Amino acid sequence: MPGFREHITGSTIVGISYGTAAWYVGEIPPLTCLLGAGLCSVAGMLPDLDSGPGIPLRESVAFAAAVVPVMLLPRIQQISMPSEALILVCAGIYLAIRFGVTYLLKQFAVHRGMFHSVPAAAIAGLTAFLIFASEEPIRRYFVASAVVLGFLTHLILDEIWSVKLGMFGPKIKKSFGTAVKFLGNEAWANIVTYLLLIILGALAVSDAAVNENLSVVRQQMEQAARQYPTYPTTQPLYRR
Ligand SMILES: [Zn+2]
Repeated sequence: MPGFREHITGSTIVGISYGTAAWYVGEIPPLTCLLGAGLCSVAGMLPDLDSGPGIPLRESVAFAAAVVPVMLLPRIQQISMPSEALILVCAGIYLAIRFGVTYLLKQFAVHRGMFHSVPAAAIAGLTAFLIFASEEPIRRYFVASAVVLGFLTHLILDEIWSVKLGMFGPKIKKSFGTAVKFLGNEAWANIVTYLLLIILGALAVSDAAVNENLSVVRQQMEQAARQYPTYPTTQPLYRR
């Protein structure tokens, strides 16, 4: 089975290629390309969160705990609140991820269970989509796809490693087919996974619709502002 180093190398290479390609094609701002590349790289260790205490668990949970509140900031700021409340909310999110998620993972995650599956990759992408609030819908799709790509890179690497070259051609290990899969052995894990997928999918679709509408309104306003650049033409006169 490929270790932490192989996974992070694989997903980093894919992430850099993905970011560079997007930057080359245009449309996506360079900073978003960089964020996408970074998230793709990090997403490459997400599936191994199920492998118990170790570098993937410790590092990715710590990383998520730090980055998620920052990514959520634009959303939190939409609800106007004093800066004290903002700090408390961010600290709360940090603690919830750092300790809550670690607890849940240690309690329920089974190695090569549903964490190593295609729906899990979709869940990771949808979560990234919902967390990353951006005015431009295309940037959100780009960042969410980066996470899915990194996640899938991990699954594919796991599968590649389960085929061993023996003396008489390729030999298939027992772990073959346990990474890129749609259903696991545990019924409850399958149900939870697909339920989560449906809920997050529905949230993402409604959020995307709002996002697209706002983006259209914003574009129309910008266009109008360009058409009438000197509005208001004269300073209004106020009588004293
Ligand atoms: Zn793995």
